[in-house]
Amino acid sequence: MNPRLLQNHSKPDEMIHHLTIIFSRPSANLFLHSTKPSFQAKSPERFVVFCCLSRTMHSSNAVRTAQTVHQVPDFGPDEIERVADQAFQRYSFDRSSALPKRKGKGVAIVWFRNDLRILDNEVLFKAWASSEVVLPVYCVDPRHLGTTHYFGFPKTGALRAQFLIQCLADLKRNLLKRGLNLFIQLGKPEDVLPALAKTYEVHTVYAQKETCSEELTVERLVSKNLQSVLNPTSTTLELIWGCSMYHIDDLPFSCESLPDIYTQFRKSVESKSSIRNCIKFPTSLGPAPNVDDWGSVPELSSLGLQTEKVSKGMSFAGGESAALSRVQEYFWKKDLLRTYKITRNGMLGPDYSTKFSIWLASGCLSPRFIYEEVKRYEKTRESNDSTYWVLFELIWRDYFRFLSIKQGNSLFHAGGPRKIQANWSQDQALFDLWKNGCTGYPLIDANMKELLSTGFMSNRGRQIVCSFLVRDMGIDWRMGAEWFETCLLDYDPCSNYGNWTYGAGVGNDPREDRYFSIPKQAQNYDPEGEFVAFWLPQLRALPKEKRNFPGMSYIKPIVALKFGNTKTINNRETTSGTRREESKWKGDRGNRM
Ligand code: FAD
Repeated sequence: MNPRLLQNHSKPDEMIHHLTIIFSRPSANLFLHSTKPSFQAKSPERFVVFCCLSRTMHSSNAVRTAQTVHQVPDFGPDEIERVADQAFQRYSFDRSSALPKRKGKGVAIVWFRNDLRILDNEVLFKAWASSEVVLPVYCVDPRHLGTTHYFGFPKTGALRAQFLIQCLADLKRNLLKRGLNLFIQLGKPEDVLPALAKTYEVHTVYAQKETCSEELTVERLVSKNLQSVLNPTSTTLELIWGCSMYHIDDLPFSCESLPDIYTQFRKSVESKSSIRNCIKFPTSLGPAPNVDDWGSVPELSSLGLQTEKVSKGMSFAGGESAALSRVQEYFWKKDLLRTYKITRNGMLGPDYSTKFSIWLASGCLSPRFIYEEVKRYEKTRESNDSTYWVLFELIWRDYFRFLSIKQGNSLFHAGGPRKIQANWSQDQALFDLWKNGCTGYPLIDANMKELLSTGFMSNRGRQIVCSFLVRDMGIDWRMGAEWFETCLLDYDPCSNYGNWTYGAGVGNDPREDRYFSIPKQAQNYDPEGEFVAFWLPQLRALPKEKRNFPGMSYIKPIVALKFGNTKTINNRETTSGTRREESKWKGDRGNRM
C-alpha cells in the first residue's frame, strides 16, 4: 500500500474509510464498501486492527455471496490428511530420540469416550506403555440415542450423530495407519467391555475420566462389571484425566474449593500452575490383537436417525484430522489468530471465531495442542491480545469443567448451584416458537434457525437467545439447555449447563444477572442486518437498517421485551430500562459483552 495515501488524510476516520475501500478492491478478492465507518481510530495499533477486521468482514462477505455452505475447514480430503500427518509427525518420536520403553505385558483396552484422537491422548499412551497389545474400543451407547432428562427431546440430534460417525471413521483410519484398529459395537459399555475383557484376557481398561452424573454412573457400572466378570485375572478400570488445558492435579486448589468467580480462578491458575506438554507417540502402536470382527462405523440409519444435509451456513467435518486442519487454517493459513479478540463476537461465517469447540467436545482436539500452537504462533509471528484471548477463552472451558465437579447435580437443577427459587413457565407452545425460530424477533429467529440447520451457534447468539428465553419469555432455562443438548455439535454438559445457569442467573457467581437487550445487540453486532437476512431471506428486501427492526413486515413478536418496547425499537432508539443489562463477566481484562 502507498504510505502517501495515509498521509493525505489528516483524520483517522478518513484514513480508515480510504483503507476500507482499498482492502475492498477486487484485486484483494473483496467487495467495494462505501459506507463511511463511524469508528474512530485512536491509536495506530487499533487502526491496523480495524483494517484487519475490515478485511476479514469483507472477505467473508465475498465468500458468502458466492456460496451458501461453508465447509469448515475449507480443505479437501487430501489436504486434511496431509495437514494431520504433518502434525502427527511433529508429535512422534523421531529416530534420534529415545523411544519410551514398552514395559507392559498382556492386553489393555482403550475405551474411547470423549477423547476421539491420537495426538496428546494420555489414555492411549498409557494403555500402549502398559501392555504388549492394545485393543481400542468404542461403544455406541444406546442411551445416547434416547431422550433428554426432563423434557424428552432427542438426546443426540442427527447432525451430531453424523459428526460422531465421521469422528469414528477418522479415528479408525488413523489407528490403522499406526498398526491398530478400532473395535466398534452398539451396546452399553458396562456390557461390551467386560465381555471383551474376558475374551482377550485384558488386565486393564483405560479411559478418560468424566465429571457429570450420567458419565460417572457408566464408569461405576463398568468398574463393577469388570470385577465380577469370570476371567482368571480380574480387570481394572483406570480413569485418566485428559479433557482440560490445565491438568486437574496441577490446580492450586481442590475442585471442592474452586473459586466462585472466574477471574479468581484464572488469575490463580495463570500464576501458580503450568500447562503440561502434549504427549509424544511412537509412530507404530501395534501389534493389533487378533479380532475376527472389528465391527464397522455405524450408518446413521442403523442408529434410527435420518440424514440431515446442511444446505446453508457452516458444515463441519468430523474427526481429528479435520480438527488439526482447522487449527492450521485458522492460525496459519488465514492468519486469523492475529485479530481473534476483535472478531470473536461476530455471528456470520466461519472466520470470526475459531470453531474449535466442535472438535474439543468430542475430544478430537486437545486443548494443550491449541496452547502449544498459540505459543508457536507467538514465537514465529506475533504475540498480542488476540493470541492471549484464545487461551483466556479456553480457561473458561476449563473452569466450567472443574465447576461441574464442585457443583455436582445442582448444575442440572432448576435452581442451579445457588438453589434460586423461581416460577419458570414450561409453556410448550411458546417454547416451540423459540426453538423453531418463530418468535418475531429476527435476531432470535436467525440464531435458532442456524442452530437447527447446522448444529452451531456463535457465542454471542447463544447468550442472546438464552437471555430472551429466560428473561423475556420467562421459560424454564432447562428447556433451552436440553434443546441445545439435542442440537449442538459441540454439546458438552459442563460448558452447556454451566453457561445456561449463568444465563438464567442461577449460576455460582452471585454477580451474574444479565439481560441482553435485543435492539442493542442487533445494533452492535449486526448493524446492517446481514446475519438476519442470511437466515431469514424474507428480510433481504428491506433496507439494511430495518432488517433487525422490520415491524409489520415480519412475524408479530410473541412476547414484549422486558426492557424496551417495539415502538422505540422501530425508531432504533436505545431501549429504556436496561439498567442491569450486560453486567456479566466484567472485571477481567476486558468485558465479555
Ligand atoms: P471461540 O470464541 O473461538 O473460543 C475458543 C474456545 O474457547 C472455544 O472453542 C471453547 O472451547 C472456549 N470457550 C469460549 N467461550 C466459552 C464459554 N463461554 N464457555 C466455555 N468455553 C468457552 N461451549 C461448548 O463447547 N459446548 C456447549 O455445549 C456450550 N453451550 C453453551 C450454551 C450457552 C447458553 C452459552 C452462552 C455458551 C455455550 N458454550 C458452549 C460456550 C461458547 O458459546 C462456545 O464454546 C463457543 O461459541 C464455541 O465457538 P468457538 O469455538 O468458535 O469459540
